Amino acid sequence: MRKSKSAKKAATPKTHAAQEKKSSARKILALLEKEYSGAWCSLSHKNPLQLLISTILSAQCTDARVNMVTPKLFERYKTAKDFANSPQSELEPYIRSTGFYHSKAKNIINAAKKIVKNYRGKVPERMEDLVLLDGVGRKTANIVTFHAFNKAYGIAIDTHAYRITRRLGLSKANSPEKMEKELMLLLPQSVWGAYTNYMVAHGRKYCMARKPNCSACPLNKVCPSAFKFHQLMH
Ligand code: SF4
Repeated sequence: MRKSKSAKKAATPKTHAAQEKKSSARKILALLEKEYSGAWCSLSHKNPLQLLISTILSAQCTDARVNMVTPKLFERYKTAKDFANSPQSELEPYIRSTGFYHSKAKNIINAAKKIVKNYRGKVPERMEDLVLLDGVGRKTANIVTFHAFNKAYGIAIDTHAYRITRRLGLSKANSPEKMEKELMLLLPQSVWGAYTNYMVAHGRKYCMARKPNCSACPLNKVCPSAFKFHQLMH
């Protein structure tokens, strides 16, 4: 069906804005790639199960803290069956310092029971299976599928990705779920997994929550929030 002249006119500014955003995203990605090309998941793990458990533990906790508790934890619990058969009271002391340890222990044991029962003790590779496990949302599932199975079904929006994506003007979404959808339309699938790693590295090095170091930041010429620290406290 042919569009009327007025419909064409009305669509132009929107198309232009979308093109501008794509072009801005390309520039930002190039700079991030240059700065953080080797960035990888900072949770120590040797297999998909360890990564899954570590990612569940990392909720409301730093990766460094999780990495402090997992060596002893994974020495005692080696398989999904080990976690599934553990009394909650026995697991809790291993993970206490990561916070929210009652609910984390409960989730880990229940997730492990499902892995044993439904997936023969192996962590499933598909997003739709992972999100059925206790304590696993899209963020955790995206991290596990990318770093353990080299598959990018989406983009993990953690606290760094959420804060910095908004500052960079790539999305104004007010929830991680909406932001992930917007970014999946904006960014090529080939960078979905790496994007979160770039955000984490950038959030630690320059774009901290409370005091971003805009003067040293390599993105300060393309970032609409550069040098507006007093307005960034949200
Ligand atoms: S210029 Fe400032 S606000 Fe923008 S990404 Fe860099 S550190 Fe963050």
